[in-house]
Amino acid sequence: MNIQTYTQEVVNLHTHSHYCGHGSGEIAEYAEKGLEQGLHLLGMSEHCPVPDNRWAVSRMPYSMLESYNKDCIDTKERYAGKLEILRGFECDYLPQYHSYYKELQQQVDYLFFAVHELSLANDEEYSLFWYPISKEDLFAYTKLYLEGIESGLFLFGAHPDLFCHSYHSWDEETIACSKDIIECAIANDVALEINGNGMRKGLVKTSGGTRYAYPHHEFWKLASETSVKVICNSDAHKPSHVNDSMGRCLSFAEDCGITYSTFEVGKSREIEGNASLSIIGGEHASSLKRDAVSR
Ligand SMILES: [Zn+2]
Ligand SMILES: [Zn+2]
Repeated sequence: MNIQTYTQEVVNLHTHSHYCGHGSGEIAEYAEKGLEQGLHLLGMSEHCPVPDNRWAVSRMPYSMLESYNKDCIDTKERYAGKLEILRGFECDYLPQYHSYYKELQQQVDYLFFAVHELSLANDEEYSLFWYPISKEDLFAYTKLYLEGIESGLFLFGAHPDLFCHSYHSWDEETIACSKDIIECAIANDVALEINGNGMRKGLVKTSGGTRYAYPHHEFWKLASETSVKVICNSDAHKPSHVNDSMGRCLSFAEDCGITYSTFEVGKSREIEGNASLSIIGGEHASSLKRDAVSR
């Protein structure tokens, strides 16, 4: 097994394209911009279609899955030796898709998950971006997020603090939900993502001050006191965004006392096939500082 290590500065594992319908650009354009913007490891991670085409407004049709796969593999070959390209998906986890995602996991380099929609009773659901969310919604979000972590299918969870987009106070409930997510991630060895696309959405004014819609520094300060693995990603939906948020992600982490994990890509020499991707780390500057003080 040939293992290559990458530090966060040269990695982005959260990348969309024209395939999802709300992104733009060819996969090869992301690779080209990735090289320009200093990436060594680029993960393509289109929103994963499901066989019944649920969430079709923001996904490629299920029937396009093969074209996407082929496109990723062709680009990967074209850039071999210049840029490591991995093929994955961002999945919205619901238990009824577990076996589908499990099968898919065998065919790709990595999967990660996110919760974009609150899926409530009777398949009734609405996007976390549309309305202010209530305390009940906050708990519903957290429950779904924990199920994603516990599914055993995913390398990391994307924008775990997405609830902050539509829930503006930082209170007992957000602290409880954040701690649940962080502790569950540690217990299941799933990394959590600081998301560059939330930063691109600009600043919002709340009663607690001006902040990004997400990531929320209070969430990540809680994370920094634990051994949770933390990474950052661009969540690019156009080629020029492929690694443009890295500077902001680095200074955000520094402010919160977060130390980013590193990445290992393992490839077998003999067999053509999927790479194995792992995330290493989980020590944070602020927890080390705290340990030093208590010693
Ligand atoms: Zn998207
Ligand atoms: Zn995404």
